[in-house]
Amino acid sequence: MSAPDKNKQAANDPPEGWPANHPPGLDMEERRAGWRARYAESDKLVGIETDETFEPFNQRNDMFARAFWDETVQSDAAYAFFKGHAGVGNPRRSAGFTQKDIALRNASWAISNMISSRSAKDGKREGFMAPIEVASGVAEQRVEIEDSGEFTQEIKNLARLFGADLVGVTDYDERWIYKSRVDIRGFKDVSHDMPEGMTHVIVMGHSMDHDLVQTYPSALAGAATGREYSHEAAIVIQLVTYIHNLGYEAVGSMNDTSLVIPFAVKAGLGEYGRHQMVITPEFGPRVRFSKIFTNLPLEIDVPKRLGITEYCNECTVCADACPPKALPYGLPEARQQNQSTIRGVKKWTANCEKCFGYWVKIGTDCAICMRVCPFNRPYKGWADRLFFRIATSRFRSLARFWDKKSGRGERVKPGSWWSRIAAPDFWR
Ligand code: SF4
Ligand code: SF4
Repeated sequence: MSAPDKNKQAANDPPEGWPANHPPGLDMEERRAGWRARYAESDKLVGIETDETFEPFNQRNDMFARAFWDETVQSDAAYAFFKGHAGVGNPRRSAGFTQKDIALRNASWAISNMISSRSAKDGKREGFMAPIEVASGVAEQRVEIEDSGEFTQEIKNLARLFGADLVGVTDYDERWIYKSRVDIRGFKDVSHDMPEGMTHVIVMGHSMDHDLVQTYPSALAGAATGREYSHEAAIVIQLVTYIHNLGYEAVGSMNDTSLVIPFAVKAGLGEYGRHQMVITPEFGPRVRFSKIFTNLPLEIDVPKRLGITEYCNECTVCADACPPKALPYGLPEARQQNQSTIRGVKKWTANCEKCFGYWVKIGTDCAICMRVCPFNRPYKGWADRLFFRIATSRFRSLARFWDKKSGRGERVKPGSWWSRIAAPDFWR
């Protein structure tokens, strides 16, 4: 990743009198006006557009929460979907859904499941509907940070030491913080316990295994997802503990507490695609993100447009391949598909009800749209880097032709994956 341009940092400084956290006592109109003033310039840099209907999202309306309280989504099959990831699963005879496939998927999820279920009696699903808790308290004595630029680089390198594949920093933007936290003892809204004075968000990217992703749709491919959630949980706990020991606040988060995509894009890690994922130069869309909210004095990254939006404007590979036709065609728009869509943000938006319905039907997560995306490549050789350069240039139609001819997005049979992992030179 190219070095971030820091000279625009002032654009994100709050206007005088504008608090860095959720401003209490302001109505939505006033809040929107404040957000426009504060974020107009940095939004423009990454192509984020909000309109007069914008409101922060309520996580209770997320499909994974609705599956537990909304009668239009609840079903025995949805319940079996969740239960199948935590126990021994329901193997089938079909390739990719056998006992071995499900065993590997559930083993990959095991650490994440342990973390997310440990506070269930308190109504928390850590990492998904509540922040990840750490044993350390915040040290009373604070380490003095003299050079915020040098310190930011140090924190990024430590995140990588713990295992993050990508790291960026952006400012704490209350628009993307969920309106409330979901208490899983009845799926009611409760307030966040976010400490006062958060100023920055450290966003970490965790790359999914390319070869497993090529086997979507299958329970086997779900191992690529579960492995990264388990990694995320460990890395977040380690980095939050480090920051606490320095005497600063830090709240560790996976899918809980806020949307992550706007933070990842604003931290300069990639650009938003038609399939609702962030496409990165290093791994394409094959990345999951975690985040840490903190009051450390960090320097933010300032993103550059990569040219991916222009490619997506002319490509419909993901939308064409989606079995339930959940992905949009055409240009981005600020249309709310259903209650699981954030209001007032101009973007490509999937119909999450159709998407989740397909996941429930096959009994495991789907990421066919990730597999087929032309930017999903191993990025180990020069050809993939060359593809990225051409695809993000004005010669993108050549890249589209190249990708179409290559057969790159074809599904790999789960049986082939298992044959290869038995080989002695698999990791070479
Ligand atoms: S995850 Fe699967 S069902 Fe959902 S949008 Fe992507 S291809 Fe469609
Ligand atoms: S498949 Fe094509 S349209 Fe979809 S996200 Fe990838 S590049 Fe964009």
